[in-house]
Amino acid sequence: MTDSLSAFAAAKLAELDAAHLRRRLEPTRRLDGIWVERAGRRLLSFSCNDYLNLSHHPQVTAAAAEAARSFGAGAGASRLVTGDHPLLSQLEAALAAFKGAEAACVFGSGYLANAGIIPTVVGATDVVLVDELAHACIWAGAQLSGARIVRFAHNDVADLAARLAEARGSARHVLIATDGVFSMDGDVAPLDAISDLARAHDAWLLVDDAHGLGVVGQGRGTAALFPDAKVDLAMGTLSKALGGYGAYVCASAPVIDLLRTRARTFVYSTGLPPASAAAALAALDIVRADAALTAAPLAKARRFTRALGLPEAQSPIVPILLGEADRTLRAMQALEDQGFLAVAIRPPTVPAGTARLRLAFTAGHPDAEIDRLARAVGSLLETA
Ligand SMILES: *Cc1c(COP(=O)(O)O)cnc(C)c1O
Repeated sequence: MTDSLSAFAAAKLAELDAAHLRRRLEPTRRLDGIWVERAGRRLLSFSCNDYLNLSHHPQVTAAAAEAARSFGAGAGASRLVTGDHPLLSQLEAALAAFKGAEAACVFGSGYLANAGIIPTVVGATDVVLVDELAHACIWAGAQLSGARIVRFAHNDVADLAARLAEARGSARHVLIATDGVFSMDGDVAPLDAISDLARAHDAWLLVDDAHGLGVVGQGRGTAALFPDAKVDLAMGTLSKALGGYGAYVCASAPVIDLLRTRARTFVYSTGLPPASAAAALAALDIVRADAALTAAPLAKARRFTRALGLPEAQSPIVPILLGEADRTLRAMQALEDQGFLAVAIRPPTVPAGTARLRLAFTAGHPDAEIDRLARAVGSLLETA
């Protein structure tokens, strides 16, 4: 531990410790869609993105197990070499049909998707306009692209309009990138107004709907709330409401073909394991068939926001803003003492001064437990 790299790391960690910003892994066993075991304790989780509890659905786990047994644990290579198992194109067809798109392309993960899509469509002569609260992987993709990055105020259409008009003059192409449902705030992007602006300025629109698919718009995602919106790149993941792993983007056929040929995180990364494709197909079948299930997480979140007199939830995600990281860690501990897991979210995942408990409601959370959580959070807000 005397080399300069280790000394650098130790000093960095000490700084983070002092600011309550060091992160540690906590071994967690998920027992089903809602219960987890940590340090020998059973806790009711409000921190999993498994909104429909499909990670443990018998049809989904059976499909994954069956595919692993039949086709192996891994894809063996990039899809462009030998990793293109037929289940992947079957999944892409199912996703495109469900999203009403011409075509779809599956990626290894959501992070890989945005890191690959954005540099494929924009470069040094272009501008990317990004909502200031968009997910980290949108920023990563924008940075990798070499395009000029312009941040616009969160969900602020007037600010976007002004920056778009300014950017349009110099740029060859302009891409607007936003979350559909914001991952740490749970609010919804005004895709109708954003899409109108994009069309008016011939800008392209990428929407990351990791937290919209399966839980808003009858399960079809955020764009389904805005029927007139035109989303050129409708990206989402297989890892939240669908309960598995992987990601996709829906777009026109030429755009999908270009991504398959040029997106570096697609070309130079191993294909998704067949088991993940099979799990996602099974999960998508359930999402398509069960409207009551896809409506449940938002209804549960609204039960909670009503109980506390908070603004009505727009998605299954409800942030409880506490401000400072140490206060948020104490709140997390207080809830844990009452049997709830609500993981503290701290900078840089959220802006400085906005540390929070981010609650994620799922179809399987019992109403009585939601009411008990509301009472516990209510007394936390009163005392601190
Ligand atoms: C989780 C998330 C991602 C990343 O997806 P992974 O498949 O977990 O890599 C991307 N965008 C948003 C908005 C997310 O919440």
